[in-house]
Amino acid sequence: MNQFMTVRQEKLLSWTITALFLLIHILLLVMFSVCGVKPMAWFNVFSIAFYIGMTYAIHREWFRFFVDATYIEVLLHMTLAALFTGWENGFQITLIGMSVLAFFAEFLGRSLKMPFVRAVPLCVVGALSYLGCFIACFYVKPSYILPKNLSNWLQIGWGIVTFSINIAALSAFTMITFHADQLLSRQAGTDNLTGLPNRYYVNHAGQEYMHKGGWLAMMDIDDFKQINDTYGHNFGDEVLVTIADLMRQNASEAAICRWGGEEFLLMGNAETTLDAQVLLDNVRHAIEQHRFGPDENPVFLTVTLGLAPYDGETELTDWISLADKKLYLGKRSGKNQVVQ
Ligand code: GH3
Ligand code: MG
Ligand code: MG
Repeated sequence: MNQFMTVRQEKLLSWTITALFLLIHILLLVMFSVCGVKPMAWFNVFSIAFYIGMTYAIHREWFRFFVDATYIEVLLHMTLAALFTGWENGFQITLIGMSVLAFFAEFLGRSLKMPFVRAVPLCVVGALSYLGCFIACFYVKPSYILPKNLSNWLQIGWGIVTFSINIAALSAFTMITFHADQLLSRQAGTDNLTGLPNRYYVNHAGQEYMHKGGWLAMMDIDDFKQINDTYGHNFGDEVLVTIADLMRQNASEAAICRWGGEEFLLMGNAETTLDAQVLLDNVRHAIEQHRFGPDENPVFLTVTLGLAPYDGETELTDWISLADKKLYLGKRSGKNQVVQ
């Protein structure tokens, strides 16, 4: 898969998340200090130092450590805050956002081929802590009670932060996988050398031309082995690329694909059936006239084509075999021609 994100971009993203978390912990330090929740105020001093330290870890590209450590920090913070101040302040909601981020981080790490986070174990620990904490809060009274108003604002704040993280990470993930999927299907259906669709495309497009009652032609370069043997394989590759271009130029209304090796397949609509012979002869002629290789020492070559209009009955594979048979008739009777 082509890379959708560079290490530099992952660094920037990690720094942005760290800056956001740092800001949250500064606000929490102020809040806990004002409300007199000393243990949590001290924990937030640690958290602030921790996130400042994380900027260095990101700078060194220790992404796996960064994600693992950040997840644990949030987990500890959530557990302690819930135990000290009660479940109703919503600190535990943050873990849901962290779980989504952990999976996103694992995906990034894997695709950047770097040491990656294992999101499942992290999230299982997170889920167990969440449930354990809920049960503990049920039995143990919190040591500190936050004002009701503040409690409500905290719930709203955690809701906003968590949903924002989830929406951003999941929409990025959706777009990335969608584009990667599109790219892969395009690559799987495209011949690397000529950029033409490959034979996988024919399975799909062939059905379409069958329904339209079109025509199909198989084209093969004459004596191509000799070209390779005389001028080398690289030259042979250049010839294939040029032939693909000549086909694009001279048979633009037809669907063209590289069937394999030095064989190409062309398909056209029923409306062009009458002209198919003329169209293919133009292609053949254009290739015959073309000067391949250096101007001072050009190489000439020819192609043979077998043309099979759709008979309304045969399967796609039989239709292709029919064109193939016509092609070999052409090969046996002197090459450089279109046989129908
Ligand atoms: P004919 O006129 O009967 O078709 O003879 P030919 O020499 O073209 O046929 P043959 O099947 O004997 O040889 C086909 C050659 O095409 C052999 C193979 O090396 C060459 N070939 C197939 N794919 C490629 C490719 O991707 N690049 C290059 N350079 N050569 C290729
Ligand atoms: Mg061949
Ligand atoms: Mg050949």
